[in-house]
Amino acid sequence: MNKPILLSTPHMGDRELEFVKVAFDTNWIAPVGPHVDAFEREFCQLTGASHAAAVSSGTAALHLALRLVGVEPGNEVFCSTLTFAATANPITYLGAKPVFIDSDRTSWNMNPDLLQEALLKRAHIGKLPKAVVVVHLYGQSADMEPILRACRQFNIPLIEDVAEALGATYKGHSLGTFGRIGIYSFNGNKIITTSGGGMLVSNDPELVAKARFLATQAREPAPHYQHSQIGYNYRLSNVLAGIGRGQLLVLGDRVAARRHNFEVYQQALSKLPGIEFMPEASFGHATRWLTCLTIDPKTFGADREQVRLALANQHIEARPVWKPLHLQPVFADCECIGGSVAEELFTQGLCLPSGSNLTDEDLERVIDAIVAVHYRYQTTHLTT
Ligand SMILES: *Cc1c(COP(=O)(O)O)cnc(C)c1O
Repeated sequence: MNKPILLSTPHMGDRELEFVKVAFDTNWIAPVGPHVDAFEREFCQLTGASHAAAVSSGTAALHLALRLVGVEPGNEVFCSTLTFAATANPITYLGAKPVFIDSDRTSWNMNPDLLQEALLKRAHIGKLPKAVVVVHLYGQSADMEPILRACRQFNIPLIEDVAEALGATYKGHSLGTFGRIGIYSFNGNKIITTSGGGMLVSNDPELVAKARFLATQAREPAPHYQHSQIGYNYRLSNVLAGIGRGQLLVLGDRVAARRHNFEVYQQALSKLPGIEFMPEASFGHATRWLTCLTIDPKTFGADREQVRLALANQHIEARPVWKPLHLQPVFADCECIGGSVAEELFTQGLCLPSGSNLTDEDLERVIDAIVAVHYRYQTTHLTT
């Protein structure tokens, strides 16, 4: 039987274990320590961010970010609709409500025109959101200049969710360094991983200091553990920060490998009718964290689900593009501005196996399976 080909799996380099061993040898087995400090420093060097706080997950980083920009119960937060639930969940942790914004077709990310229009409308009725969360999906930058302009015009803090796009740039600069706060994830399926972990960055040293403080139970500097605010236990383990330091050393290779996957898929599949690959917007350099494409069933012959199931049959894991959050039952009572673009990307969109550790034979197997679906269904059409 064929070995399974998974969507996106961890890919360790040569140095991670060495760093972990140092943590053991020095007994720094705690959510604090030299690897945590070094991981933050090296992360800043790599991304050009000024200050960073390593935390236990991307979700925790978002929760802290929203709290740091002052989100409170009853507030609204504008947020991309085409994303993973983890982008919006922390908004609700704070008793606030997400308002979703549709994607554009250039980047699949937040449509800047819709954002600008919506902020203008809200300003007129005196109901501006407390923050905007923009997601950089599947390794590609959103169109940051108009998004930043709109946020500045109405003085709304912008939080960048870079969980899927570490290593990607907008006009030459790392994502996460444009907004008030940027957050990243090192979950097992991301481009680099610490098994679980996250990072929060900002150019404002006080914000990052406050993030560390809140992530350490808001413990004030007193020997008896003084608290005047509610905090969280969100710091990253020093052991896992060691894995992270090793992974940072290979980020460039991982980006190159994922872009290679994309190119191989595109070369082989873009000639099939009805297949379109996620575009790479001219303003950025994408990582192609996942290779995504859309399938138009009328011209391709089979729809996205038929292709996904045919791949699953051969032990190949593909996934639909994120189900837009405004379609999720849990967010059914939330407003959505636009939504049809994200809905179409969900209906037709498929993410192919994209790990940096896939071999060319793996890619070949995925390609052959998709080509076979096309011909199978095309033949069915001709004979019926
Ligand atoms: C993975 C992911 C997160 C959450 O990160 P965790 O580290 O898993 O908590 C947030 N936003 C997006 C877009 C993600 O893909």
